[in-house]
Amino acid sequence: MSKKPSGAEIRQQYIDFFIDRGHTFVPSSSLVPGGDATLLFTNAGMVQFKDVFLGTDQRPYTRAVNSQKCLRVSGKHNDLDQVGRDNTHHTFFEMLGNWSFGDYYKKEALTWSWQLLTEVWGLPKDRIWAAYFKDEHDEIPEDTEAAEIWLSQPGFNSDHLLPFGRKDNFWEMADTGPCGPDSEIHYDRGPEFCDKKDDPDHVCRINGDCERFVEIWNNVFIQYNRLSPTELILLEKTHVDTGMGFDRVVAILQDVDSNYKTDLFMPLIHRIQKLTGHSDAEREADLTPYRVIADHARATTFLIADGVVPGNLGRNYVCRMLVRRAARFGLKLDLHNPFMADIAQVVIDEYGDFYPELKRNAVTILDNLTREEIRFQKTVNAGLEHLSEILEELKQQGGKVLSGEKAFDLYATLGLPLEITRDIAQEDGLDVDTSGFNSAMEVHRLASGAGQDFGEMGGEDVQIFADLVEELKASGKLGAEGVTYNPYQAVEEPGEVLALIVDGQIVDAVSTGETVEVLLPHTGFYIESGGQVSDTGQIVSANGSDWKIAISDMRKPAAGVIVHKGKVVTGQLRTGEMALVEVDEERRRHIRRNHTATHLLHAALHQVLGDHARQAGSLVAPEKLRFDFNHPEPMTQAEILAVEAKVNEAILSNYELHIKEKPLQEAINEGAMALFGEKYGAVVRTITIGEEETLSYELCGGTHVDETGDIGMFLITYEGSIAAGVRRIEAVTGWRAYQLARDRMNTLDEINQFMGTTSGEVFPKIKLISDNFDAAKKEIEQLRSQLVAGAFNEKLENTKDVEGIPVLATILPNADIDSLREMADKFRQKYTSGVAVLGSSHAGKPLMIAAVTDDLVKRGLHAGNLVKQVARIVGGGGGGRPTLAQAGGKDATKLAEALDQVSVYIRENLK
Ligand SMILES: [Zn+2]
Ligand SMILES: [Zn+2]
Repeated sequence: MSKKPSGAEIRQQYIDFFIDRGHTFVPSSSLVPGGDATLLFTNAGMVQFKDVFLGTDQRPYTRAVNSQKCLRVSGKHNDLDQVGRDNTHHTFFEMLGNWSFGDYYKKEALTWSWQLLTEVWGLPKDRIWAAYFKDEHDEIPEDTEAAEIWLSQPGFNSDHLLPFGRKDNFWEMADTGPCGPDSEIHYDRGPEFCDKKDDPDHVCRINGDCERFVEIWNNVFIQYNRLSPTELILLEKTHVDTGMGFDRVVAILQDVDSNYKTDLFMPLIHRIQKLTGHSDAEREADLTPYRVIADHARATTFLIADGVVPGNLGRNYVCRMLVRRAARFGLKLDLHNPFMADIAQVVIDEYGDFYPELKRNAVTILDNLTREEIRFQKTVNAGLEHLSEILEELKQQGGKVLSGEKAFDLYATLGLPLEITRDIAQEDGLDVDTSGFNSAMEVHRLASGAGQDFGEMGGEDVQIFADLVEELKASGKLGAEGVTYNPYQAVEEPGEVLALIVDGQIVDAVSTGETVEVLLPHTGFYIESGGQVSDTGQIVSANGSDWKIAISDMRKPAAGVIVHKGKVVTGQLRTGEMALVEVDEERRRHIRRNHTATHLLHAALHQVLGDHARQAGSLVAPEKLRFDFNHPEPMTQAEILAVEAKVNEAILSNYELHIKEKPLQEAINEGAMALFGEKYGAVVRTITIGEEETLSYELCGGTHVDETGDIGMFLITYEGSIAAGVRRIEAVTGWRAYQLARDRMNTLDEINQFMGTTSGEVFPKIKLISDNFDAAKKEIEQLRSQLVAGAFNEKLENTKDVEGIPVLATILPNADIDSLREMADKFRQKYTSGVAVLGSSHAGKPLMIAAVTDDLVKRGLHAGNLVKQVARIVGGGGGGRPTLAQAGGKDATKLAEALDQVSVYIRENLK
């Protein structure tokens, strides 16, 4: 090799090689898999061809070549922790592949692999190794075909062919479906690449654990369809699916010892170096941040080009996490200003010719990266500081693992993704409870309504509001504590409109139709917490102006700041005008009933099920309450009714609620129930229910009724499971409960009227009707099988003669599989030598049974094969023993046509 080929040239050589051999170039599909909800990101070349293999899609070509964009951030193939810390792991990568859809097979595929590697790319033949499939369980045939093709390649060293079992060399898409053996090509980079030389037990080998042998290409031969764990059938058409790790091949062809040293990465690394001002030696001494930034910049550039921008959930979370993780590694290199756009520009320059979507979306890519970095900068220092405090605390306590709730809290309030928290903890020799993080996230989602986005989480506009509130405090318009929050007593006094915010910008005035956030010195609106939803209502002029804002939500964007979110319904208002807040009182009353009822329900669950039935999540809304709690099994009907009765008992006792504020420790000592996942200040609000004996004692910031009698009535509407060991109850109270009871009574009245019964009589009467109906159904069955038997007896006399044997191939309308089997037995009783195939259309589907007498089995007939062959015509399949077999299908209209094939089978197979 004189001049080393560039990465772009290598990619093109691969594609051209296969175009020359009749392949169609197919552009990479998006990183977001189309119509596949099970997959977060495209993670292999075959994702866009899956439907072709499954037979549900067809393409205008039978040979294809592509370079597919892939992303893997977790799972068995990649661990984010390794990215940047070694030479070969990436989040984003390209996979080269050539494909045959029922066209060429092993001989062409392996021969071309050998030719491309040794002739076009000039790799030394004695460095190439091949693995082929040999089943360790001896159940699936050994792929001797692939082995022989390898041995016939000119110059291939026969010692370099090795058999491997199912784990390495048998490919399956899923538990069932297309599958087959594969043949991997490995490249020996030489003993100097072994990174396990210090280990005396280590031996360098294929599929081993050192860096000497690199798997570069896998040829998958799809020749089977898996029906079950033990059943494989040969496919009519065989396919080839290959995958080559592009970054690895480029590293080999450019003769470098790391993917990051190829021209796929070096321009990115150099751009980072220009920003840091490091010398080459300084860069090499601190390489990990360089690699992480280069990898993540490449990945996020491609992600945003495919429409995945930074955000809070799912794919968007991954994009956000990668940008923030890169930014955090930037801090290690003293990069404190946004830099990702600079690196992304290099990615666009280097990859944009082949992937034009990068150039098309350049502005969006650079914009989104910079904006996300700025958002992160606002909270990162506070986040990192807080994290180092809690890690310090953890170490002092001798702990090793940071709790998932704390990690989640860092993300929810300070925008630190779990992955960054874990990076930092690991640098400190600690770890993070990832599953705890996930369940804290789940609790949050339950509390705020499953599936909801995290809204403003991530602290994006924290700074705007923090600045604003400082200004207002300085001018004396807000007290030291910020906005006064008192949702417990109606506040009648007017307050000045301190700020109006539209789309994160402070404005002077708003008018009809605009969506706005309003900041006032005090509010009586409740803000969603402890499961209780925010209040709604309106803000109106205190001076008789005609403007009005309908308030639909509340939020607390920064410490001391509470804003009302709503829409201007009429008029125009300016900052400085006087306003009155008016909570929707009717809605609030429904919420209060449901909240107090939630406390009573919690207490009743403890009484009926035991103390383990603790709260795991809660929603208190105007229309219903939802309560999740720990309990290992479904509640019995008796338990549900007992809980419901206890709550209603408490309602009818009309207990007064005692609400007090006291120090947290005092309340805990008194046995108040503190809830998991809730944050409590030094002084807490306690809610006590019960007179002589305390029924319920909880720490709670919610709004409640004055006396339990205000709840009116409590009815449980649902009990079910939401996760292992967690149950959910839904219930209604007050007016809603009355409506529900009234509706049910109306329904019962209608039924009684129709049946001419009273409530006491209706059930026995329905049971009687149902029993009669069952008896009638049975009788119809009997009559039908008598009819079928009658029809059959007639047909039994009229067999056809095929090659000298009696054959009965006939349709018995409406017979089920049992009566078909009975008929087949009758046939065998009557004919000691013969063949019967009985078809029926039952419940719209074709059924078939085939019977072959023993003497004819000896002459080559097989009931299983026979029924399988003829069932194809009705779109089905089947099988069974040589003497008796059955089949089903899809198209009953073709039964007669299928039965015509019986004589064809007999003529072909009879010996
Ligand atoms: Zn080794
Ligand atoms: Zn509460």
